[in-house]
Order: sequence, then C-alpha cells, then structure tokens
Amino acid sequence: MSSIPTTASEIAAAIAAKEITAREVIDAHLARINARESDIHAFNKVMADEARAHADAIDADIAAGRPVGPLAGVPIALKDNMCTRGVETTCSSKILEGWKPPYDATVVTKLREAGAIVVGKTNLDEFAMGSSTENSAFGPTRNPLDIERVPGGSSGGSAAAVAAGFAPVSLGSDTGGSIRQPAAMCGVVGVKPTYGRVSRYGLVAYASSLDQIGPFATTVADAALITEAIAGHDVHDSTSIPQDVPSFVEAAGQGVKGMRIGRVTDLPEGAEPEVTARLNAAFAALEAAGAEIVDVQLPSLSYALTAYYLIAPAEASSNLARFDGVRFGLRVNAPDTNAMYGATRAAGFGDEVQRRIMLGTYALSAGYYDAYYGKALKVRRLIADDFNRAYEKVDVILTPTSPVVAFKFGEKVDDPMSMYLCDIYTIPTNLAGHPGMSVPFGTGAHGLPVGIQVLAPALGEVPMFRVGGALEAAAGGAQ
Ligand code: GLN
Repeated sequence: MSSIPTTASEIAAAIAAKEITAREVIDAHLARINARESDIHAFNKVMADEARAHADAIDADIAAGRPVGPLAGVPIALKDNMCTRGVETTCSSKILEGWKPPYDATVVTKLREAGAIVVGKTNLDEFAMGSSTENSAFGPTRNPLDIERVPGGSSGGSAAAVAAGFAPVSLGSDTGGSIRQPAAMCGVVGVKPTYGRVSRYGLVAYASSLDQIGPFATTVADAALITEAIAGHDVHDSTSIPQDVPSFVEAAGQGVKGMRIGRVTDLPEGAEPEVTARLNAAFAALEAAGAEIVDVQLPSLSYALTAYYLIAPAEASSNLARFDGVRFGLRVNAPDTNAMYGATRAAGFGDEVQRRIMLGTYALSAGYYDAYYGKALKVRRLIADDFNRAYEKVDVILTPTSPVVAFKFGEKVDDPMSMYLCDIYTIPTNLAGHPGMSVPFGTGAHGLPVGIQVLAPALGEVPMFRVGGALEAAAGGAQ
C-alpha cells in the first residue's frame, strides 16, 4: 500500500489518478480508529462495513472508467445530529437512542453525490448544548492532543476525529460556537458559514434561527472545499439563501494584500494572556502580508451572551417539545398520556437539556415574554447593527475564538456560567447570522493550540477564507 495523503484534496486527487484506491484510504483510517478510538471516544457509531462497501463501489466505478464525484473516496465523519437514512441518529441523547431517520440530511446527500464516504457519527453535547462534550449521554470525547482535557463542544467528536486523523474532514453544527470553539481547542480549522448558506434540512434543530452546519479540516483549503460542496440553495429549507456559491478554495489562496482587518477595541475581557498574545501576533502577521489593521467598536457585544441564553433556550424549548415518547426513540410507560410524557422526558433528557428547556419556557411565558425574549431580540438587532457599521470600515474582523485553551474534565461542568463564557467571542456572529472561522495560530498555556477567529459580513465567505488562508500560511512560518 502506498502512503495515504493527509488532506481531503490530496486524497481525492490520488484516488482519481489511480495512485491509491478508495479502499486503501478507508482501511487506513479505520485502522487509526481501531488503534485510538477507545481512548478518544470521538464516535457514537463507526460505520466500518458501510464505508468499506462504499469505497469498493467507488473503486469499481474508477476501474470501469465511470465518472466519479470531486470528493470520491474522501472519508468524512458526521456529527450525530445530522439525519442519516436507516442509521441511528442520537444527538447523544437517551431520548433518541435507537431512532433511525427515514431520510438523509441535505448535506449528507450532497456529500454522497460528491463521492465522500461517511465513516461514522460523532459524539456531541446532548442536542448540541454545551462547550466540552461532557454533556453527552454516552460519555465525553477526549482531546487527542491531551486526553486529560476536553475537546471543546458541542461538536467535540467531529473536532477530535479530524485532530486524531480518523478522517481528514468532518461536519459539525454551530449555534453559538460549536464548530469554531472545538476547532480551536483541538488545533484544527473550523468554519461556520453564513446563516442560510448551507441547508439545515435534516439537522436536528437546537435553535433554528442560529443553527448552521459547517466543516472541520486540517487545512483552510480543505475547509473551503467542503464548505463549497455542502453550500447552496435547498428547496427543503425555507431559510436557505438562493445565491450562487463562489469558489472558496480559490479565495483561500489569494492572500490579503490591500484588505482591511478590524481590531475590536472594546472586545469583552476574559481571554487568557497567551491567547491575547497570539491575537496580536496574528494582526502583525497579516499586516506583514500586506493588510491594513483598522480599529472598530462593537459596543453591544457585552450583551450577546445574555441575549443568546434567552433566545437559544427559548427556541430549544419549542423544538424539543416534539420528543414526547410518541414519535421518536424512548418511551417510558405510565398510567396515562400526560404521565408518559413526563416520565419519558425526565428519563430521556440530561440535566443541561432540562435546564435549557426550563429557562426557555420561562422566557417565553405570558407576562415575561416582552421582558426577556422580546428584549433579547432587540439586543440581537443592536449587535447586528454594530457589526454592519464596523463592516463599512473593514472587510473582516479578528478576535480570539475561545478565551481559554482546552481545559480539564470536570473543571467547568458544575458551573454553567463559566462554561457559557467559553462562547463569549463566537456567539455574537451567530446572533448576526454572519460567517466565522477558526484557524489554528500557535500555542498558549500548557503548549495547547490557540485558534484565531475570522469574522465576515453576511455572504462574506470569500474575504473570510482569504484571511484564513493567510493566517494559516503565517502560522506555518511562526511555529
Ligand atoms: N456552547 C453553546 C451552547 O451551549 C453553543 C452550542 C452550539 O453552538 N451548538 O449553547
């Protein structure tokens, strides 16, 4: 067997050129999973047989000279909140254990059409609520760089799968930072596209006005490649944007000459000093690469966390009402229907999910609606206005992704507020509906990776990938 390339684009090219087979690629990744998965627990389910069969089918097509997709033979891991037809989709919740969706999410269909091979469903904080993967009903995922530490969350399994080399690329979902924050903590690239850029059809909803699917990868070019493959209008998602998708891969290599990069002078405090030092190094590197650094203000940013923890739980309390023991997964029998609902939901939902449902129900209840939910929506508008004003002066904005590097298990899990603060820099973008990405940029405390976040206006993925590519090039030189 010749050596297996590491990136998705190299793998696709080598398979298309018949230098290696899709089967060799899959077997190599499954061997890595076998060797380390018991320590990492990136997956809820490894789909070894299905993946091998898919690889063999691709190899047969190539041998027969039939056309194959641009991602033919590329292994990909999916967060276990994306529907896969006939394959358990649990959201890492007991309430959905054993449920097999009758359809594929649009992103899954698109990836399969492009020839990508699904290797498994990855672990997450239950229903994507959390920042460490400790809220999974099936046990936490461990950070491949230090297994005493969390991989971040909620897409911790997808981030860890890429960091451990179980797959060159994976998909996560980001409602308040759940792609970017674990990417930062595992030292990989993570992208949250513009709200509506990627179809949410078949993504189990957490907070529908904020949720967005995006990729993890080891390089910015691979992240661009996968974003391109999953983006585009979908009639099955009424919030998906009817806009053509430009080449993000090209953008990733264009450099930043003449671009204006925003530095937020009133950024909420709380970042570790080593993280702030990396942010300053990132500004210096982009300036050296030909960009101009411009100061901007985002005065409403300090209210973002509060607004998010009203809006997201409010939407979650409504979305999760459908899990009642009647239509999906778990049912705990009881003497009457109401008692059955209660018993099922009490047994099926973990503590954090129950906390969010109660917070959200309270925020939406008569008499409190205007004071909490209504006020949060006004704050959301102010945050979007702040960003739009800033983007009159700059093309992108740079911040840290996470204020802290990967922390140890148990450090924050009993203190929801300190866990919620992990997303202080990622949440505002979700509220505005804008794209954002995290790019590894050196290390901070304990030699652990630090991610720099690149934010851009709605549909600004091209400038975002340009800056992401430049940061990656500079990080390579700096380490
Ligand atoms: N950590 C945040 C939360 O718990 C964001 C989660 C996400 O983006 N899915 O809600």
